[in-house]
Amino acid sequence: MVGGGLAGTECAFQLARLGHRVVLREQKPQKRSPAHQSNALAELVCSNSLRSDNPQSAIGMLHAELRRVGSLILRSADETKVPAGEALAVDRERFAAAVEGRLRRSGGVEFQAGEVTAIPEGVVVIATGPLTSPALTAALAPLVGEKLYFYDAIAPIVSGDSIDQTIAFRASRWGKGDGADYLNLPMTKEEYLAFVQAVRAGAKVTPHDFEEPRYFEGCLPIEVMAERGDEVLSHGPMKPVGLTDPRTGRWPHAVVQLRMEDRAGTAWNLVGFQTRLTWPEQKRIFGMIPGLQRAEWVRMGQIHRNTFLDAPRLLARDLCLKSEPRIFFAGQITGVEGYVESAACGYLAALAVHARLTGTAFLPPPAVTALGALYRHVTGEAHPDDYRYQPTNVVFALFPPLEGRVTKSDKRERYACRAQGAFDAWAASAPHPVSAAPAPSVAQALTPPPAP
Ligand SMILES: Cc1cc2nc3c(=O)[nH]c(=O)nc-3n(C[C@H](O)[C@H](O)[C@H](O)COP(=O)(O)OP(=O)(O)OC[C@H]3O[C@@H](n4cnc5c(N)ncnc54)[C@H](O)[C@@H]3O)c2cc1C
Repeated sequence: MVGGGLAGTECAFQLARLGHRVVLREQKPQKRSPAHQSNALAELVCSNSLRSDNPQSAIGMLHAELRRVGSLILRSADETKVPAGEALAVDRERFAAAVEGRLRRSGGVEFQAGEVTAIPEGVVVIATGPLTSPALTAALAPLVGEKLYFYDAIAPIVSGDSIDQTIAFRASRWGKGDGADYLNLPMTKEEYLAFVQAVRAGAKVTPHDFEEPRYFEGCLPIEVMAERGDEVLSHGPMKPVGLTDPRTGRWPHAVVQLRMEDRAGTAWNLVGFQTRLTWPEQKRIFGMIPGLQRAEWVRMGQIHRNTFLDAPRLLARDLCLKSEPRIFFAGQITGVEGYVESAACGYLAALAVHARLTGTAFLPPPAVTALGALYRHVTGEAHPDDYRYQPTNVVFALFPPLEGRVTKSDKRERYACRAQGAFDAWAASAPHPVSAAPAPSVAQALTPPPAP
């Protein structure tokens, strides 16, 4: 296994669980990508959120499916979660420690630190992520031809005790979660428009001349949104809807939402504030946000090139290279996007490698499940012939369309219900134990517990 990120740890854990001996080679601590900041395995490089846990969202469905199959990443996330409304957010240090602890206790994984610069012998899984080291990228080039890329940006983190608590108010949108999981910094229309103007005019880190800026639409830098129109940010990450300022009894014109990085609230993430503004400009411009005038920054926003393969063209149905089938790929390098999607891909790669090593058939997940939808993306089945392969999160567009008349209100429930039976049948054939308890029915999962 090359790479000990979200995909590599999940894949190694599952293979060890299936009785295989795995050598996990991770370049940390000797070497780190520009985005990785710790020496931990399974480092969350940007947000500490694994996104919505609502079982009627595509990502919530993926969470539920991964829990059923005993995912290392989901289990560790559940154990280390911090309050974040409907989202599954974690204390990133405790999360990484939980992943590594369980991986070490599995007994089947040998750890070898150090950058891999040539493709190792034997059956190998490359899970080196969007920031695969340049030397390994060069070693892969003859096998994968032109690699594709886009840009991804990281949001800044501010220290909790430097936030002006006389301005910030605690609330989750529409009171979800325990109703007070986020800190919100309200803005008047004048403050907001001045901020947008400053973001537009601020100095940015520019890509090299030979690099055309292509962004991932699900994670646009704030300056790109600001360029698209005055109110794009107030309809996006700065959306005030459902957030009543207790001092005015009204929704502000815009808000900056801060999500807890740790249970103690010592550090807070500026939700959706990924940016390529230069660091001095971030300090100046984010200092205009009411409540952040005296902010102490734990981490500034950053931007990085993000590399992936043209997986539908290069990979076989079991995620190995068509041209060299002993080499498998897992995680974001295959063109899935996001922590959970990468872990899910690591899980599927483990099943594929297990099938290869045991001479059994690899059974892909059914198309109607969230795992299956992601798999359809990587193999190209979800896309028309002329589709230009792009990374994506798991979204309903990757699922086969629902049959019959579909209303907006019942669409999500129908996707979720349709997946359950198919998932149960497929999971029953898994080579490892599956959680005996069936996934909660959608109705159960959404019904709040009775009042005490
Ligand atoms: C700037 C940026 C911001 C992001 N923000 C988010 C976000 O907010 N939310 C989200 O869900 N996703 C985000 N992502 C995507 C996120 O990185 C992935 O979803 C996830 O981490 C991918 O998992 P992975 O295992 O494929 O790669 P990674 O988690 O990156 O793991 C790859 C591992 O391989 C190691 N490695 C690399 N090269 C070598 C080598 N040659 N030899 C040995 N080891 C090597 C690395 O050190 C790393 O530990 C972001 C990505 C970037 C680049």
